[in-house]
Amino acid sequence: MEQARAELASRAVAQRTEVDDLADEIKKAESDVALVRSRRARDQQRLDSGAVGSAKDLEALQREVVSLDRRIATLEDAELEVMERLEVAQAEQQQLDKELDRIDAEMATVGESLDQQLGAIATEVAVVGTERQQAADLLPGDLLALYERVRAQHGGVGAGALRQRRCEACRLELNAADLRELAGLPADEVMRCPECNRLLVRTAESGL
Ligand SMILES: [Zn+2]
Repeated sequence: MEQARAELASRAVAQRTEVDDLADEIKKAESDVALVRSRRARDQQRLDSGAVGSAKDLEALQREVVSLDRRIATLEDAELEVMERLEVAQAEQQQLDKELDRIDAEMATVGESLDQQLGAIATEVAVVGTERQQAADLLPGDLLALYERVRAQHGGVGAGALRQRRCEACRLELNAADLRELAGLPADEVMRCPECNRLLVRTAESGL
């Protein structure tokens, strides 16, 4: 979503630039028209004042007025065309802004949900950590130290239940000779899995 938003934002920046450029173009066109208009107004004033005596000058002045009118019409047509392009560009910009608002709102919702889930996971981690600590507190120190050592050596799993002749840590079934040997150990002796060397925990269904 962040990537989509970045792409959208860069499109919005490009669009805003186009809108600004078109607005500048219109300002320029307006000032061009104003220049020609003021020239035309000056000519009209001279025509109306009767100050232009010779028929030749009068004719030249009238021709210039006609030519200026054509020029004004051309400039205004061009300005109109730019105004239409500006309208389209502004509509596109508004659309992009709306999409940005929508993705921002969506990201806020997802972010909130993510925070909630992370919070729930953190709570669960704390609860499980407390339970683990309580369980660990019940164990003799040397057994706990052995367990931690084996756990560190075996990818985070230090012990497995022995159930139906199978070590539930490595999932291997123990052979009859190994089982006999384990069965012969005193009940307070720590069993090790002959296959993976992790601690084996006696259960009611150990099969010993
Ligand atoms: Zn094992």
